[in-house]
Amino acid sequence: MRIKIAHHVSTIAESPTLAMDARAKAMKAAGRNIINLSAGEPDFDTPENVREAGIDAIQRGFTRYCPAAGIVELRSAVARELKNEKGLSYDAGCIAIANGAKQAIYLTLQSLLNPGDEVLIQVPYWVSYPEMVRSLGGKPVLVPAKSSESGFSLDVGGFAKRLSDRTKVIIINTPNNPTGCVYNRGELSALADVLFGAGGSKSGRNKRRRRFFPCVISDEVYEKLTYARLAQDIPAGAAAPAPHVSIATLSDIARENTVVVSGVSKTYAMTGWRIGYAAGPKLIVQTIVNLLGQSTSGSCSISQKAAVAALEGDQSLVEARRRTFDERRRYAVTRLRAMKGVECTEPLGAFYVFPSFKAILGRKHASSNVRSTEELARILLEKKEVATVPGEAFGAPGFLRLSYAAAMETIKAGLDRLEDLLGSLR
Ligand code: PLP
Repeated sequence: MRIKIAHHVSTIAESPTLAMDARAKAMKAAGRNIINLSAGEPDFDTPENVREAGIDAIQRGFTRYCPAAGIVELRSAVARELKNEKGLSYDAGCIAIANGAKQAIYLTLQSLLNPGDEVLIQVPYWVSYPEMVRSLGGKPVLVPAKSSESGFSLDVGGFAKRLSDRTKVIIINTPNNPTGCVYNRGELSALADVLFGAGGSKSGRNKRRRRFFPCVISDEVYEKLTYARLAQDIPAGAAAPAPHVSIATLSDIARENTVVVSGVSKTYAMTGWRIGYAAGPKLIVQTIVNLLGQSTSGSCSISQKAAVAALEGDQSLVEARRRTFDERRRYAVTRLRAMKGVECTEPLGAFYVFPSFKAILGRKHASSNVRSTEELARILLEKKEVATVPGEAFGAPGFLRLSYAAAMETIKAGLDRLEDLLGSLR
């Protein structure tokens, strides 16, 4: 019998970031001295109070099915977090707990997309957005970010140009993976104006009054990891970090048409616990909950208790870790900027640097021509045993994503090896 995979999922690619991370781990397990700068997760352990809450949930027998929307205790903790951090009030019916922010994004898309609906996604993008959209029969419409010299910030005009009656969803991600860009209030207000205000679209396609506004999915998983601009005389952590702004806070209409997605993976080093959430219009959230109920059911009971402890517990470790990330970020940016042929825009959020290697493309390593950053990443892994993710994975050839969610010595050794490799190119 020949098996036929459904059309709309048959071309879905493996996640390149997960693939690179798995490859680096396999090479390490095979005895290679791999430096892994490809990971999309904090290198820290889950905080002790959070681990203890998980153990306590097991000991108390809190190990049964949970409501599809998530336990009330966690939804209330998320509601408090959204209120305290962003001034956003949602009742419990407008918050759904999912198996990570990734599932929250996927279920939001599943709730909204009909075949052929367009989804505007900024490039460079997080690897999963276009694949999620395609897997649901939607059409990703890519909107280039401003240049790397302009910090990869939002190109509002680019969104306006591509907005049409077919646009159902806009995905934005701030702080951004892979660029580290943090969108400021002005940029987000201008985008909200284009989507919901009198700004409308500059293209003729959208001159008619829209019957529906597009829905924004605002991916804010790195919201607690922002940093102050690098200044030589100010020590790490001394200046106020770039403020994280959620588009949902900008106006009632923006809030009514936005699903805010976040979670505990990045802030609390809880990637394996799989807890994220979506907060937004009741109709969408109720659809998400129905999808959860008919597919995975409610998220892991133990993880939900641990997530409550994370959100409600002492937050000083979050700040201490943010400062550690900042020190590593400063070091990585300074080192990369000193390398010949490398241009490095300063990231103000998340835990990645996304330097350009365009100036070295076309040079030779031994007998091979380094024609692309995919090739550069391959050589760097094979010859220097450093794992990175090529920009091609994010729709941005010419760049490499290096994660600084690694110990300082690891980052230093990885950058030494990269510098070595670049120095050997002819
Ligand atoms: N969104 C972005 C931009 C990410 O980088 C990631 C993880 O890498 C996620 C969402 C998924 O997070 P979670 O672990 O909560 O599913």
